[in-house]
Amino acid sequence: MAIVVQKYGGSSVADVARIAQVADKVAHARRRGVQVVVVVSAMGKTTDNLLALANDAARTGVEHPGESPRRELDMLLSTGERVSMALLSIALHSRGIDAISFTGSQSGILTNDRHFDARIIEVRPHRIEDELHRGRVVIVAGYQGMSYRREITTLGRGGSDTTAVALAAALGAESCEIYSDVDGVYSADPRVVPDARHLPAVRYEQLQEMAEAGAKVLNAQAVEWARRQKITIHARRTGDVLDAHGVPPRETISSDFAAIASERSVRAIVGLDNATLVEAPSARLPQLSDALETLGLSILDLEARDGRAAFAVALLNAPDWNRCQAALTAAGGPDTRMHAGLAMVSVVGDGLTTGGASVGAFARAVEGFHRLTASPLRLSALVPRETLAEAQRRLHARFVVDAHV
Ligand code: ADP
Ligand code: ASP
Ligand code: MG
Repeated sequence: MAIVVQKYGGSSVADVARIAQVADKVAHARRRGVQVVVVVSAMGKTTDNLLALANDAARTGVEHPGESPRRELDMLLSTGERVSMALLSIALHSRGIDAISFTGSQSGILTNDRHFDARIIEVRPHRIEDELHRGRVVIVAGYQGMSYRREITTLGRGGSDTTAVALAAALGAESCEIYSDVDGVYSADPRVVPDARHLPAVRYEQLQEMAEAGAKVLNAQAVEWARRQKITIHARRTGDVLDAHGVPPRETISSDFAAIASERSVRAIVGLDNATLVEAPSARLPQLSDALETLGLSILDLEARDGRAAFAVALLNAPDWNRCQAALTAAGGPDTRMHAGLAMVSVVGDGLTTGGASVGAFARAVEGFHRLTASPLRLSALVPRETLAEAQRRLHARFVVDAHV
C-alpha cells in the first residue's frame, strides 16, 4: 500500500474545530486506501507563546536576565507539537480510525546536538512502520528529534516541514503534502504583496534559494532534504476540498522537473525580517568562524576585502542573541561593529547576473541598502527593517509584473 505523508502547520491545527477538519481530511485519505503518516505543528501561535513564557521566567533573576538555556527551550518548545499530536489522535479515534501518536524521538528522528536549530542526521522509522503494518494512522509531532546524546532537540523555526520531508524519504512515501493557510508558493508573500502570483511548479533549486532567503512558506532544511532525496513536495491549502484522487483545485509542486512542467523559470521576491550585520577585521575571521560554530549560528552571506570582513546573521533561530553578540565581539576584537535592525530582501530567478540590467534595476529599487550581493540565482540586499515590505512590493512590480529586467 502506498504511503502518504501529510503535514499540517500551526494555523491548520489552531483550535479543536480545525483539528476536527484535519481529522476529516486524514479519514478521507485513509478511505482512498493509502497508509497515512501525519506530521503536526504546534497549535496556532503556541511556539511564540512558549518562548514569551521562557523570556518571562528568564527575567526573574539578576545573574543572567533574559537568557534561557537552549536545551531548556527545546524541552519547552517540543511540548507544543505533542499537544497537537495527541489531540489529533483523539479526534481520529472518535471517528473510529485507529491512530497512534509519536514524539520525534519515538519516530526515530536523530539529530546533531545543536539545540534550537538542530539538523536531522538520520531517520529510523521502525516504530512508525510497525504501526502502519498494523493498519494504524501514525501522527508525528513535528519540529523535534533526539540527539545522539539522547537529548530532545528542535529543528529551527518552521521545522515541522523538515520532519515531514525527512519521514517521507525514510518511509519511501509516494508523496509529501504540506498543508498550510496558502494554496502553494507565490511569487511573493501574498500577505505583503497583494498581487503576488500563484506558482504551479517550482524546481527544487529555486525553492531552496527562496527558503534560504527567508520565504516562510517552506522551511529551508526541508527543501534541501527533498532535493537530496528526490521527494516531490505538494504545497496545498488545508481548507481546499480534494477530488476523488486526492488532488486539490490548486497547489504548487516542487520536484527536479517542476520547471519543465511550468515551461519557464520562476521569479520570486523574498523578505527576511530581523538580521544584524557584523563587521570586524578580516584577520579575525578564523576566531569569528569558531565562535559562529560554537554558538550554532548560520550566516546569510559573507564578504571580506580591504582588511574588513562582514556577514549578516538572521535572528530567527538565535533566541540568545545578547549572549551571541558578546561572544562575537570577543572573537572579532575591539574593532567589531554591529548594525542591528536590518532585513534582507531578495529576488530569486535564473540568470540574474547575465548582463547588468537586473543588478542595476535591483539596486535602484532598494535604494538606501546596506549591502548588496549577487549570484546567478539570487540578488539580495540588506535594508532597514521598516522598508522591507515596501521594497518587496517595488521589486515585485519591477521583476515579476514587469519582467523585462
Ligand atoms: P504553517 O504554520 O502552516 O507552516 P507558515 O506560516 O509557516 O505556515 O507558512 C505559510 C505562510 O507563508 C503564508 O501564510 C504566507 O504569508 C507566507 N509566505 C511567505 N512567502 C510566501 C510565498 N512566496 N508564497 C506563499 N506564502 C508565503
Ligand atoms: N511550531 C514550530 C514553529 O512555530 C515549528 C513549525 O511550525 O513548523 O516554528
Ligand atoms: Mg511553516
